[in-house]
Amino acid sequence: MSKYWSAVARGLTPYVPGEQPKLDRLVKLNTNENPYPPSPRAIAALRDELGDDGATLRLYPDPNADRLKAAVAHHFADCGLAPANVFVGNGSDEVLAHAFQGLLKHDRPILYPDITYSFYPVYCGLYGVDYEQVALNAQFEIEVGDYLRPNGGIIFPNPNAPTGRLLPLAAVERIVAGNPDAVVVVDEAYIDFAGDAIPTAAALVTKYPNLLVVQTLSKSRALAGLRIGFALGDPALIEALERVKNSFNSYPLDRLAIAAGVAAMEDAAHFDTARKAVIGSREALVAEMGKLGFEVLPSAANFIFARHPQHDAGTLSAALRERSIIVRHFKLPRIDQHLRITIGTDAQCMSLLAALREIL
Ligand code: PMP
Repeated sequence: MSKYWSAVARGLTPYVPGEQPKLDRLVKLNTNENPYPPSPRAIAALRDELGDDGATLRLYPDPNADRLKAAVAHHFADCGLAPANVFVGNGSDEVLAHAFQGLLKHDRPILYPDITYSFYPVYCGLYGVDYEQVALNAQFEIEVGDYLRPNGGIIFPNPNAPTGRLLPLAAVERIVAGNPDAVVVVDEAYIDFAGDAIPTAAALVTKYPNLLVVQTLSKSRALAGLRIGFALGDPALIEALERVKNSFNSYPLDRLAIAAGVAAMEDAAHFDTARKAVIGSREALVAEMGKLGFEVLPSAANFIFARHPQHDAGTLSAALRERSIIVRHFKLPRIDQHLRITIGTDAQCMSLLAALREIL
């Protein structure tokens, strides 16, 4: 902190650096990355874009990322979406930031769950958005009825983070339909891990002009390092996001991200195999954790949220860290006895289970 800082900078807290430790040989199960590599077609596209001499890097990227918008729209063609329904940004974090600034009302409180993605209050602080936190029920589920009251907008992750719980599509629709005067943002960072069928609210976009669905290539497409996210919505909502984005940076994505993003969106076979592998590993891990006495919430994500009735979560997390296994422990009311554990490779899950057996 220094005297030169604005009030905004003073009010901000840096992202916990401990979650991205710079150590080798860690079993890193704390930030919900994909344990498998991205599509080989994405890697080939990166090489093509770069060429032998990187000459294209002299040139600015396409300011509209048209190819990527087309590839995203094509992936959601069954939902009747066109490129005009697509916005792309630097990770879904940036897409969400633009939604907070451009679509959620600043003259009355917005609603989001009391246990949810930690960036929502940060964006509210940054952009001066008032909010009310709506309590999840005893099973850590979103109660639709709690969101049917006057508000300046609604945002929730589906599946929710860090609980992993899924709100069925029909319930999402009731929230969207019940709030025709406000934008409902459904943050679907983890939706591709919900099951064989993907219950995405993208299917509702053409029906509701107040629905914005946000997704990312960081999780199911294993491209967290390239920072690619997108939003799907009515063209009028997309226009608001474009206006905000243009005022920050007229080039939302760099050339490499666009090239790899297009190839990753087009590789439907790799996408399906990779997400189903994670789902399979999750089901196996849940079963094994149960045998160790953990209570695991039903998860539709690439992580699980678990507590052990006889063991303190903070102590467990520290004991795992001593064994070079990093999981996420939130020192927050109601969830300070839970651990959020990312689904790793089968070998990583075995290391986790072996360590837990030793600790317990
Ligand atoms: N939404 C949720 C619920 C998340 O957990 C994350 C990842 N931390 C994001 C959005 C942002 O992901 P990214 O910026 O990598 O797309």
